[in-house]
Amino acid sequence: MGHLLTPDAFLKSIYAIHPDGLRKLGIKGLILDIDNTLVPTYTRDADIKIKSFLEELNKNGIKTVIVSNAKQARVEQFCRYLNIDYIYKARKPLSNGFLKAAGRMGLEPCHVAIVGDQLFTDILGGNLLGMKTFLIKPIDDNEPFFIKFKRLFEKPFLRGRHYMDKL
Ligand SMILES: [Mg+2]
Repeated sequence: MGHLLTPDAFLKSIYAIHPDGLRKLGIKGLILDIDNTLVPTYTRDADIKIKSFLEELNKNGIKTVIVSNAKQARVEQFCRYLNIDYIYKARKPLSNGFLKAAGRMGLEPCHVAIVGDQLFTDILGGNLLGMKTFLIKPIDDNEPFFIKFKRLFEKPFLRGRHYMDKL
């Protein structure tokens, strides 16, 4: 089970991701998590820095979709400003949301990377489908109780890992 919980890269933040690095890995599309990946869990709105980051990727031919387990209202509000396609209540790590997102981008799973902060949702789900997986260091530890609880089980898989500044 270990390899299914091992991401292809450990990244300090989303800003470690650059079009050149993605190109080298054959990645043409990103599936992005919201909570504790793009913004802290209780931050409702995206900011200009995230918007510019996504626009830069898109300009370089990298497609982007949000796939979140959060509710419709949270995901819609967040994505409106970014003008990005999204799937809410995705039930990650189940495959359906990820496959739908890859389909919307018109990409095979092998050309897609999952970007997220949780091993048992984002990374497990992506690895099960043969997608590339990038684990982002969670932005902060202000999270609901059930996620704090899951973090305890992530710990053995994260010990001693080096998080990269640049992919
Ligand atoms: Mg998350």
